[in-house]
Amino acid sequence: MNLPENFVSQMQHILGAEYPDFVESLQKEAPTTIRLNSKKTLPNAALFGENLVPVKWNTDGFYLPQRPSFTLDPSFHAGAYYVQEASSMFVAEAIKQTVDLTKPLKVMDLCAAPGGKTTLLASLLNNKSLLVANEVIKSRVGALKENLEKWGYPNYVVSNHDPEEMIDLEGFFDVVLTDAPCSGEGLFRKDPKASKEWSENSVQLCSARQKRILQAAAMLVAPNGFLCYSTCTYNEKENEQNANWLTQTADFERVKLNIPAEWGIVEKEFGYQFFPHKVAGEGFYLAIFRKIRGDKQEARGKIKFNRVSQKKVELLKKWLKEPADFEFFEKPEGPIVAIPVNLTNEYATIFRVLQKRSSGLEIGQFKGDDFIPSHDLALSTAIATDLPAIELSKEDALKFLKRENIVVENAANGWLLARYKGLNLGFMKVIGDRINNYLPKEWRIRMDISE
Ligand code: SAM
Repeated sequence: MNLPENFVSQMQHILGAEYPDFVESLQKEAPTTIRLNSKKTLPNAALFGENLVPVKWNTDGFYLPQRPSFTLDPSFHAGAYYVQEASSMFVAEAIKQTVDLTKPLKVMDLCAAPGGKTTLLASLLNNKSLLVANEVIKSRVGALKENLEKWGYPNYVVSNHDPEEMIDLEGFFDVVLTDAPCSGEGLFRKDPKASKEWSENSVQLCSARQKRILQAAAMLVAPNGFLCYSTCTYNEKENEQNANWLTQTADFERVKLNIPAEWGIVEKEFGYQFFPHKVAGEGFYLAIFRKIRGDKQEARGKIKFNRVSQKKVELLKKWLKEPADFEFFEKPEGPIVAIPVNLTNEYATIFRVLQKRSSGLEIGQFKGDDFIPSHDLALSTAIATDLPAIELSKEDALKFLKRENIVVENAANGWLLARYKGLNLGFMKVIGDRINNYLPKEWRIRMDISE
């Protein structure tokens, strides 16, 4: 790999005698890791063979001996796991060590697409918490939504704003994660193109952009709340300089984590640095801060959508595991959304400030008295467990995911969940001899599945 000259001298300066080990690690293949979805009934890691090596800092994370075709694994489409680089799973450990996760929390993931860290946060949060996943670049929001739908945590909103447009949410969040766009030095091994795009000038631009994002992020945090800042770079002009700036100017103090030496993570003045010659993972940086002063904003307001009539609520109940946990709203011409009953003020606050956003868990739509359940509901952990369902073979599950028609013997007319290894893949509708596949068109597998 050809490394930019100035990057080489920077790394020699940072690593000293360890530099040759670092360069050698860049010649090796990046490990493939998955993180299991603890909120779904799991087929567990044995899905990929016995005795997988665990990720040291995340009990849901595992190294795979080789990279399989995830597209050809139906449980991947069901949200049983997320394919995530190992070092970045450390965000969960940092949050676990600092935040009281038994409390109902309001959490913002400010730079969220495609959703790796949002799904990680969702796995940590209890069902009285609210997670907002924001992504400023519109073309990246679709993937974020899809990954969150698959993950199945019901209490989330996806938004599409510049962090600087969120001033009216000042002091609202208990935790804000800023996984900032960066110079990507830690990804050179996985993505050699990143090393070609690297320059001192782009580092300066990234650093300045991060500072702008962090300034907006800092404002969103409630007093005693936490700001977690991460990047996938080693560059101190980004990481440590911005972390220093936060403690100097923005009412934050650094939080120190307890990290076993054998994890191989390097403690810097403000944050924690991952180097590929010391950990089985890519380059990554994380620092976490507590806000020591500032104003808190309480959640308030009413959701302005129409409430669903009591008659319809009765019809909806059978579709959810705990219908009493939700209130149901109907947007004109739109789907019915379920909003957690204990979070309506929080959702109302978010809805008031963020105009470009989703509106809650979409559970389906009435056509007359007939209810058409949504794909979001099929993949949600909030769905009832006793709905009619059929367990499919791998071959049929892949056909379903290609949106092809499959043959189901002796099924009663009506909605039928397609399942693979106990995990929901989506809805089908049985009408006599015909089965209609309700997988959204844009979700279908496009590759040739004949093995
Ligand atoms: N957190 C994501 C994950 O774990 O899957 C990865 C996020 S990536 C490192 C950084 C994200 O920041 C990108 O999705 C990018 O579109 C977004 N971004 C770019 N410019 C931004 C800006 N000015 N403000 C906020 N986010 C920005």
